Amino acid sequence: MDLQTKALHSGYEKDSQGTMAVPIYMTTAYEFRDVEHAANLFALKELGNIYTRLNNPTTDVFEKRFAELEGGEAAIATSSGMSAIFYAIANAAEAGDNVVCAKQLYGGSLTLTAHTLKRFGIEARFFDVHNPSEIEALVDDKTKVVFFESLTNPSIDVADIEAITSVANKHGILTVVDNTVATPVLCRPFEFGADISVHSASKYTTGQGLAIGGILVERKGLLEKLKGNPRYAHFNEPDASYHGLVYVDVPLPPYTLRTRLSLLRDLGAVVSPFNSWLFIQGIETLSLRIKEHSRNALKLATFLESHPKVKKVNYPGLKSNSNYENAQKYFDDGLASGLLSFEVDSLEEATKIVNATKLYSLVVNIGDSKSIITHPASTTHQQLNEQELIACGVPSGLIRISAGLESAQDLIDDVKQALES
Ligand code: PLP
Repeated sequence: MDLQTKALHSGYEKDSQGTMAVPIYMTTAYEFRDVEHAANLFALKELGNIYTRLNNPTTDVFEKRFAELEGGEAAIATSSGMSAIFYAIANAAEAGDNVVCAKQLYGGSLTLTAHTLKRFGIEARFFDVHNPSEIEALVDDKTKVVFFESLTNPSIDVADIEAITSVANKHGILTVVDNTVATPVLCRPFEFGADISVHSASKYTTGQGLAIGGILVERKGLLEKLKGNPRYAHFNEPDASYHGLVYVDVPLPPYTLRTRLSLLRDLGAVVSPFNSWLFIQGIETLSLRIKEHSRNALKLATFLESHPKVKKVNYPGLKSNSNYENAQKYFDDGLASGLLSFEVDSLEEATKIVNATKLYSLVVNIGDSKSIITHPASTTHQQLNEQELIACGVPSGLIRISAGLESAQDLIDDVKQALES
């Protein structure tokens, strides 16, 4: 079945009312038929609803539908993209372990891996996403995860997914890829050897900047990689917190199962059923929107490249861009999302341009249907000095745009008048 058809139908069996739209089940808990039924659900002898921190029928549709789009086996929704990333890592690593991460990550993922995980005793080691061969020297028998973004935010690089996953697979290490910016419409990392994908549903999935949420997807057949793998003893040994359950012995996708039974149970970063419903609405039009975002971004990038005031344009859909080949290889039709950035001479010049735009909103978000403009050096990367800004690919004259769904000509006209004002 085609992805657009799955986006409209997967995961939902109409209820007895024949409801066309997926109902929102706003409930905290579910009544058991009797004590035996309750006991069976807790013992996984029977599958069903227990309590909305663990599962919910609306969220279940969101999870099943998203897993289908990504080509995965199962998914688990969370309260934010950051909690999906944290769970993806915490499900594999514990104190004393390390994770190998790309340097080019979303700011929150950088602080999570470099600082917060460190406080939990998990060390982060960084490689340059342009140079996956650096991974080999960083891994050891305590490495539990290799983590990277398929299309990086804000540096706008395209990871060589196969090069990264092949090093990790050689060592039996799990790969976690943040596929937020590319979306499953443009890129399906499991086809290139990745094990787990994570998304901030707050971006293109909702599509209109409506809600915060996240999702973690497990690839088909991950069980074989975990079973008997000494790196992941906690999947192969009895879990004392779940009366001796051995995750690889249960006939259910093990990574999402453990995330649900252990991490959601104990840490509780669960998505609201209402937000799951919003994400389901977003998914229905995701493939139409992301293609249009990408076309608008390409037109805008092409215009910016021709403007004398613009020093450099970063957009993987441009032939001149160093990520062009990877975009052609990993993204359907080479479409590269709505995210682009461009560089002008100075901080002052960048400030003037951002302030002069009328159609773009000055917001630190991406993936909204409305276009967004950001000046990273004065916002998300404010704490860095000039050298640090250059080192992480965010010079002070850099302006980031999330191209929305307005007419491309209006977007070009507005940025043109801002450049020339
Ligand atoms: N991953 C990427 C690539 C992001 O851009 C963001 C947020 O901007 C996140 C993860 C975090 O998502 P959330 O804001 O839903 O926690």
